[in-house]
Amino acid sequence: MKNKQVRWCSFRTKNFSRYVFIVFASCLWYCLSSCVHNSNYYTKADFTKTPKIDVHIHYNTYNASYLKFADSLNFRLVSPNVDLIMVDEQLEGSHYLKQQFPDKFAFWGTFSVDNFGKADFIERTIARIDKCMEYGALGIKIWKNIGMVLKDSAGHFVMADDPVFEKIFKYMEDQNIPVMAHLGEPKNCWLHEDQMTINSNRAYYKRHPEYYMYLHPDAPSYQTHINTRDTILSRYSKLRVVGAHLGSLEWSVDEIAKRFDQFSNFDVDISARIGHLQFQSLRDREKVRNFLIKYQYRVLYGTDMDINDNNSNYQVVTSRIYNKWMKDWLYLATDSIIEIKELNGKKVKGLQLPRSVIDKIYCKNAERYFK
Ligand SMILES: [Zn+2]
Repeated sequence: MKNKQVRWCSFRTKNFSRYVFIVFASCLWYCLSSCVHNSNYYTKADFTKTPKIDVHIHYNTYNASYLKFADSLNFRLVSPNVDLIMVDEQLEGSHYLKQQFPDKFAFWGTFSVDNFGKADFIERTIARIDKCMEYGALGIKIWKNIGMVLKDSAGHFVMADDPVFEKIFKYMEDQNIPVMAHLGEPKNCWLHEDQMTINSNRAYYKRHPEYYMYLHPDAPSYQTHINTRDTILSRYSKLRVVGAHLGSLEWSVDEIAKRFDQFSNFDVDISARIGHLQFQSLRDREKVRNFLIKYQYRVLYGTDMDINDNNSNYQVVTSRIYNKWMKDWLYLATDSIIEIKELNGKKVKGLQLPRSVIDKIYCKNAERYFK
């Protein structure tokens, strides 16, 4: 009986120590693997502490509180001036913020085409570019009004590869002044609304029929805009160009990849087009993910949000900005499942790009454009 008890006890001790060993080993394995996991990927909690740059956010106010809000989330902001209204006021505002917050704020200057066709247009435009650069711009933004609004004296649309712009592009190339080019529009702009892929495009063209090219069949085609931009990339091969809004090739990562392979002077920002990446993600997540990994040096994070004087309520504005930034972070940096309004509430799995890729897209690639 005693022997039996001893045997039973030793059996229990042996089993217990085996059990302890298995638990210990599993804990160790879990810790090691989660350490590796954590070092490879960011989490939701890393959002605030990771340095980030929004290279395309329209900061149209002298009110610096939004800049401080961005800073509290480790975001630096780059505001593109746009040749839409009051380009001088935009430049003064950007210049003021740049002086006050040189490490937190940067901007793209711009020039107006109001004097296109006048004898001194080229001279004045170059003087304007110089002024923007003296005021601290990191480069010059050109906008879709070239190609979609501007017409010559004969009533023809003027494209960005028009001979009148040659000396201007050449000047920026020689002076090593980067260009943010919003040329053309998303492909959806030429489609009936039932064929459009994402809701924000439908909503935008409803608000702006003047830019809805489906309604203007006489205006240049989608492909004409893309060809024009490509002509500029090849003609001025040392001009550094950031193609705003995925370079208007938002509908196909393959098309963007082709341009990256062809033009070493071409980068893109993802502003206002992340919905198009998510749309492609729904069909083939790995393809979008592999594209961003392969071209991790060529893609810059941006949103195209607006911050205006008439955004009256600080709380409302900052929560809108925060929600957008966080949603994009979850999609790019984590494997969270995200519901996308743009896609009628469809659920998309985050790309969970490696940390080193996120660091480039969110920060290091944009830093190359800072002096
Ligand atoms: Zn914009």
